[in-house]
Amino acid sequence: MSVKVNLDRVMDSIAAACKAADRNPEEVKIIAVTKYVSIDRAAEAVEAGIIDLGENRDEGLVEKWGHLGDKAVWHYIGTLQTRKVKNVIDKISYLHSLDRLSLAKEVDKRAASPVNCLIQVNVSGEESKHGLEPDSVLDFVRQLREFQNIRVAGLMTMAPHTDDEKVLRNCFRKLKTLQQEVQELKLDYAPCSELSMGMSNDYHVAVEEGATMVRIGTALVGK
Ligand SMILES: *Cc1c(COP(=O)(O)O)cnc(C)c1O
Repeated sequence: MSVKVNLDRVMDSIAAACKAADRNPEEVKIIAVTKYVSIDRAAEAVEAGIIDLGENRDEGLVEKWGHLGDKAVWHYIGTLQTRKVKNVIDKISYLHSLDRLSLAKEVDKRAASPVNCLIQVNVSGEESKHGLEPDSVLDFVRQLREFQNIRVAGLMTMAPHTDDEKVLRNCFRKLKTLQQEVQELKLDYAPCSELSMGMSNDYHVAVEEGATMVRIGTALVGK
């Protein structure tokens, strides 16, 4: 299937979810996750009108950035090893996986200007998932105060792999509640206006629950 056909379908589904939740579809940014696909396929996504691309490994990001660099806005969505920060930090606009102080420290050191970071939260509590426990997010945000180059743009989570809408909804709602708690801290470096949640299987639910960024691979560019 062409990316264009897939994109139309994804946009219809987002529009329907927005209608159900009384939201404006313009509030939802579609990030095409290109980690499974070739440079050509990523280029096709850009040609179809997708501006935001996401990668979860430093090699993948550097490689695709080398070909499509200024044609896209780059999102790093995977676990980032501290020693790899220097490879990607000057290429990305958003880091979706901030989950520890040592990483914040390295980003702060290597970045030339403030980086839009999303704090990854392990809402579901599954051991296999990365991210902070929900209970430690507010303290973590306060601790980021000392880093000039860290801007807390929002929160990110990965829902459990299930089709049970109740479980998904519950997970996304918890992230939304946490976002409100961060916003109530009223810290100038932590506007926390973004909610990065929703993937191919569950983005329709995530959008209904307030996602402002959906990260879609399989359903958009394929696997
Ligand atoms: C791979 C990946 C996605 C996209 O997954 P799909 O199910 O293919 O849409 C989204 N977010 C993260 C963090 C990923 O690693």
